[in-house]
Amino acid sequence: MTQSKDRTETGDLPYAMRDKRILTKDEGFNFACHSGLKCFTDCCGDVNIILTPADVLKLSRRLGISTTEFLAKHTLTPITKDLHLPVPILKMNDDDKRCPFLKSEGCGVYEDRPWSCRMYPLGMGIPPARAGEQPEPVYFLFEDDFCHGRQESTGWTVNQWLEDQGIVQRDALDEGFRSVVSHPWFIGGRQLDPKRIEMFHMAFYDLDRFHAFVFESSFLNRFDLDDELVEKIREDDEALLAFAAQWLRFALFAEPTLKVRESANDKKIDEQKTIQNQ
Ligand code: SF4
Ligand code: SF4
Repeated sequence: MTQSKDRTETGDLPYAMRDKRILTKDEGFNFACHSGLKCFTDCCGDVNIILTPADVLKLSRRLGISTTEFLAKHTLTPITKDLHLPVPILKMNDDDKRCPFLKSEGCGVYEDRPWSCRMYPLGMGIPPARAGEQPEPVYFLFEDDFCHGRQESTGWTVNQWLEDQGIVQRDALDEGFRSVVSHPWFIGGRQLDPKRIEMFHMAFYDLDRFHAFVFESSFLNRFDLDDELVEKIREDDEALLAFAAQWLRFALFAEPTLKVRESANDKKIDEQKTIQNQ
């Protein structure tokens, strides 16, 4: 696995951007990728593709399997690398180390391909959070020798590329995820405990398990949610993903993003009193 094929998305900005050309959203670069190039599909093997929650959701739905099955079959154990939160990477085939979705004619999941496959040859990093500031993404260009696409004459600005590759819509789906991974709570290197890291992984990545957690536990008795919202998140995966961020901001950082029912509060106080009296 080469460093240049390590498509890193968030968090480790200094590493990912070392020696890279930084681009503003209006700056340009040349690129075209097509089956006539000698390098066609060379980039679809032996590569770290970090998956976002929207990637896992879209790919699992495309394959007709649950997010739980997708994570077990197609991802490697969440890695932390230099990141403060675990993120899964796409598992390459054991034998030839190629992407399992690669077909002779190219990407077999093109319409639902992961965020970093869409982005390439661009990369993006989110600077560490600072108090009172929402960090802005920084874009940079991978200038890998194995990729001949940059020698093509088609010109793009960063903005045009983000639109053309469907990244704008994908980023909207992952907005809640980004608000959590770049949350100011992490300023100063604070780390979540293992229980909260598991909550992060379940709610964002294993959305079917999160669905069961919301609808098959006492969750709805504990939180005061609009009926309309409850019906929406029951039926709509994308709404559930946005709600996952709302719940995680409450559960991980104690933000008032959800309202606890009075009765649940009373019960908690009673439980605490019982424990204290034991
Ligand atoms: S042009 Fe670059 S992105 Fe396209 S197939 Fe070749 S190596 Fe991959
Ligand atoms: S998902 Fe598609 S574009 Fe991405 S590595 Fe696999 S085959 Fe290539």
